[in-house]
Amino acid sequence: MRCLHGGERPPGPDRPLWEVADIFRLYGATYRQTHAVSAAQQKVIDAILACRTAQLGGHAERCPQCGFER
Ligand SMILES: [Zn+2]
Repeated sequence: MRCLHGGERPPGPDRPLWEVADIFRLYGATYRQTHAVSAAQQKVIDAILACRTAQLGGHAERCPQCGFER
């Protein structure tokens, strides 16, 4: 579902190819095997991993021209 103004945007300056959560997803397990991660640090990592996922309700995008949301 998309609006008349486009919808799918390619990665750009305002939309990074990689997000911090991607780094944790890819290398988090490996990092924990070689570095001490405190409970507080793990809590932050878990929160970043959950950000923008369905776990927290999802990630909404809004078209600035017509207000269409998805
Ligand atoms: Zn639109």
